[in-house]
Amino acid sequence: MSLQLGISSPGRCLLARLDHGSEIIGQITDIARDLEIKAAFISAVGALTSAEIGFYDQSAHEYKASAVVDEPVEIASLSGNISILEGRPFVHAHAVLSDSSGRTFAGHLVRGTIFASELFLQEMPHSELVRMPDPVTGLRLWDDQIGSGGEAVL
Ligand code: ZN
Repeated sequence: MSLQLGISSPGRCLLARLDHGSEIIGQITDIARDLEIKAAFISAVGALTSAEIGFYDQSAHEYKASAVVDEPVEIASLSGNISILEGRPFVHAHAVLSDSSGRTFAGHLVRGTIFASELFLQEMPHSELVRMPDPVTGLRLWDDQIGSGGEAVL
């Protein structure tokens, strides 16, 4: 049952200052790998010097760049998760970015160069979220054949 895929007792919480000049998805992936995090919720605020936002074309089954931002922007909101893809931690993040006039860019965060950023991460240590190709959507979604890998704590 897919509703039970992510049930877990809470694990480690992490607050981290991310590195100026680093690519944000890559740095969060590195943190997950270093801490051996397999499932987590993430949130971040801060600012980027550039970014790319993607949009998933549901007919073509592919991501397209909806915005390439080559100017300083605030991370008004960033939320997402970490799960496992091909045996490694995979960060899936969506963001709302705002420029100096308040104009926003929102969607699937493909990449972003960090000016400054603060990350919150909530681990779900007993969840087993493994991404597998989904023929209906063309996405790599959490495999509902695996089920919860640990204790169900409500
Ligand atoms: Zn996405």
